[in-house]
Amino acid sequence: FGPPEKKQKLNPIQFNFNSQNGPKKNSFEELRDARRALPIFSAKHKIVSEIKKFPSAIVIGETGSGKTTQIPQYLLEAGVHQNAIIAITQPRRVAAISVSQRVALEKNTTIGSLVGYCVRFEDVTSAGTKLKFMTDGMLLRESILDPTLTRYSIIILDEAHERTINTDVLFGVVKAAQRRRLKTGQKLLKIIVMSATMDVDHFSEYFNKAPVLYLEGRQYPIQVMHTKEPQSDYLFASLITLFQIHKEAPAGDDILIFLTGQEEIESAVKTIKDLARDLKDVPQLVVLPLYAALPSQTQIKVFAKTPPGHRKVVVATNIAETSITIHGIKYVIDSGMVKAKVYNPHSGLDLLKVVTASKAQVLQRTGRAGREAPGVCYRLFTESEFQNMSTNTVPEIQRCNLASVVLQLMALGISDVLTFDFMDKPAPESINAALEELVILGALERQVNSDILKLTPLGKQMAAFPLDPRFSKVILLAKDYDCLEEILSIIAMLSAESVLVSVSNKRKECLESHQKFMSSEGDHIMLLNIYRAYKSVNGNKSWCFDNFINSTNMHNAQEIRKQLREICERNNMTFTSCGRDTTTIRKCLAAGFFMNAAELSKEGDFLTMTTRTKVSIHPSSALFQCKPACVVFTELVKTTKCYMRTLSVVDPDWLYEAAPSYFKRKKTSAIS
Ligand code: ADP
Ligand code: MG
Repeated sequence: FGPPEKKQKLNPIQFNFNSQNGPKKNSFEELRDARRALPIFSAKHKIVSEIKKFPSAIVIGETGSGKTTQIPQYLLEAGVHQNAIIAITQPRRVAAISVSQRVALEKNTTIGSLVGYCVRFEDVTSAGTKLKFMTDGMLLRESILDPTLTRYSIIILDEAHERTINTDVLFGVVKAAQRRRLKTGQKLLKIIVMSATMDVDHFSEYFNKAPVLYLEGRQYPIQVMHTKEPQSDYLFASLITLFQIHKEAPAGDDILIFLTGQEEIESAVKTIKDLARDLKDVPQLVVLPLYAALPSQTQIKVFAKTPPGHRKVVVATNIAETSITIHGIKYVIDSGMVKAKVYNPHSGLDLLKVVTASKAQVLQRTGRAGREAPGVCYRLFTESEFQNMSTNTVPEIQRCNLASVVLQLMALGISDVLTFDFMDKPAPESINAALEELVILGALERQVNSDILKLTPLGKQMAAFPLDPRFSKVILLAKDYDCLEEILSIIAMLSAESVLVSVSNKRKECLESHQKFMSSEGDHIMLLNIYRAYKSVNGNKSWCFDNFINSTNMHNAQEIRKQLREICERNNMTFTSCGRDTTTIRKCLAAGFFMNAAELSKEGDFLTMTTRTKVSIHPSSALFQCKPACVVFTELVKTTKCYMRTLSVVDPDWLYEAAPSYFKRKKTSAIS
């Protein structure tokens, strides 16, 4: 009697449900057999011959059918690439990294040789690389330097259904490159668009009526449950549902929960672990978070095999909808929510906001339960709530700040962005708002006596950085403020994943350690303090550990800094340092981020300077307990409130000095 026997009782069952618990590990034969067992394998010849025949093709197939990992290999093996590079774009860096690693494994090579990946600030390719997995943003940047994408013979635009801004712009750029090559008699550029959802007529139409190849999926029946009543707290509902399943299902039946973002997921993971600790007579839980900002080595854990007698619970964002396949999932719990970028044309800012998912997303999430055996999907919303969801997700290009994209298009030589061949045109107001923002930042200017906008030398320099135009502007300004070295450190830290480690059972120690880096000037100076301290100990790992600093992310920040510095060198910038005078740093930040300023009102609320929107200081900020009169922020998030997450104290005069005409105009328009 007692737990050991119970455990034994549960043990035999899990092998039936989790094919991942085999004794052998990724031997080459095993991988080859797995490749052959994929639904796509039987269609291999058909796919290759169709792709050979046409300049463009659309491929549709269920998530997990083998599109991303297999099609590039098939084309390579059949020589369709004609010895040039095949690029496979992914909207997410995690997907680009994990999929390329999988393909390298299947090809029995080390990553970076035949198979490589290229994501922002990380290029793991070499002269021999033929399969290059890359983020859509990286290919877009390459196209600025080489508009016909000469190095590539095939470009696979993967996860096209996600319709990220960069994918949408790439559609136009790649289509133009194909046409240009044809006109000038260069080697043909093949375009393959891959999607997990069926609404493809649009893609086919856009790519000159390209043929559509439908892959047969392998989907087991999935039982879908809706709640009887609408749920006011999806987080709470997801935990209740999880433990209901956990009490009854055998070990090895893994569970995937869709929530919305990093903080929510981390807190859910902690709660699940805490609650599970006291449960008896149930399998042990392996609880894993999965979201884009998670360091890649932690993300990889979700692919690991669940130990016998255990149950894996993955708490994920929409990242697990289509771009990443996790084994063993039998139950899906869907909050029906998603965190999305929403553009506020009024403030000109993108806001991360939790919104209702689309039907297309909900259906994809459901599908994750039936990959290997029949499964169950618990939807934490009612049937009628489901019916009211929008059919498809609105493409990002129709709901985000376009400044970065418009700057890139201008740098590509596409001066009339309003007439660019977009698959779905963004609203002219959004394009105009982006153009205006770039004019205010000095990246574009109106030509004398005309409305035509031209890239300025400053704009050209800004486009060279893989950053939001406001960050590029700050870097370019920094040389005038004599603090380029410091600004590079701060922006590198902002571009890397969070370096502050928070250990749930050592909250107090974490806070105390982090306290010594804090600055009354704000979070940006705190990041600088951490960077400086890290440098002073030469990146010592035990120093990181003792101070609750994530050493991998710190190392990445250092790498990012190096790359940003190289771009500055190419721009012949002078490297200046302000030493202890951190005020100049804040002045410089104010000069680049004057559009992101907020001031304290008489009532004690923060209001943005230009649109008088109410915002609050995020609890994670060093300034959370303070009430500075005026701040600039580099990140805005919306949960229960609209929060400024990374901010610095500034003097309002600096803002007016940096952009007098901007504030004057805003003031008059506010009065009228
Ligand atoms: P698709 O692109 O059609 O969604 P993929 O090519 O990504 O499909 O995946 C095909 C199969 O390859 C998956 O079902 C899974 O079995 C396997 N696979 C993909 N990535 C990994 C990985 N990182 N680890 C283990 N197996 C993987
Ligand atoms: Mg895929």
